[in-house]
Amino acid sequence: MQNAGEAVQLATKLFTEAGLETPRLDARVLVAAALNIDKTRLFSHPEQPISDHQCLAVHGFIQRRLGREPVARIVGEREFWSLTFKVDASTLVPRPDSETLVEAILKRTDNRAGRISILDMGTGSGCLVLALLSELSRATAVGVDISARTLDIATQNARFLGLDQRVRFLRSNWCDGLAADARGPFDIIISNPPYIAVGDLKKLDPDVAEFDPHGALSGGDDGLQAYRELLPGLSRYLAKTGIAGLEIGWDQAGAVKNIADQAGLSCLETVQDMAGRDRVLLFRPVES
Ligand code: GLN
Repeated sequence: MQNAGEAVQLATKLFTEAGLETPRLDARVLVAAALNIDKTRLFSHPEQPISDHQCLAVHGFIQRRLGREPVARIVGEREFWSLTFKVDASTLVPRPDSETLVEAILKRTDNRAGRISILDMGTGSGCLVLALLSELSRATAVGVDISARTLDIATQNARFLGLDQRVRFLRSNWCDGLAADARGPFDIIISNPPYIAVGDLKKLDPDVAEFDPHGALSGGDDGLQAYRELLPGLSRYLAKTGIAGLEIGWDQAGAVKNIADQAGLSCLETVQDMAGRDRVLLFRPVES
């Protein structure tokens, strides 16, 4: 391959032959990243010559993608809510489906310039909480995760997005570490916990099963373990007028509502994702 256009053609051909779902898109993103140029420049200047060193980089990226490593992991970042998030081996790659949660919470937030407090349980790359902070100009937030490495990525993302003054990241197993910090109550609590049943992990797409951290996916034998652990705490830290939003698996709405009910939370709404599957549950405290 002599130039950028040929690199895209070669990658597209190999990805198509390997049966990847979006070969041309993957090829463009990976070649642009390997050449360290903008995707639009790839379009406007396909004749841009490539050096031997860049050629090696392109080949390296192609091989990794052929090994089913997700594009976001190869380039080290992913777009979510039109913002760019750094990801690494310790974080789940942000999914478009999770934007449903951000959207659902925003729809229920009347005063977007209010002093709103947010708690994100299992923050990962920070995509959910940082997307909310980008829309709620005076909100402040706490993001909790059990992985120190993940918290480092979330902190970098907050800094990169200029939101680090309004968010604190804390290492904690769900709410366990929050009590000492005497925080809350929070106006908004969100979480995208691990919710895949252990037995289903191996049925996932290889891009997910082999590359996403299992700690961020595995919800125990029935997929519901994280909800059992986090919902009682969530209920304790939610303001009386607050709202909680949880991402769920498509078939988990009934079971999660039951667990929430026992924790003193009543379901306000079940929200569907773009494919029409149940994806988010919104809760408020049961009036006492
Ligand atoms: N939605 C993810 C998937 O389908 C699962 C994320 C999670 O367990 N929170 O792979």
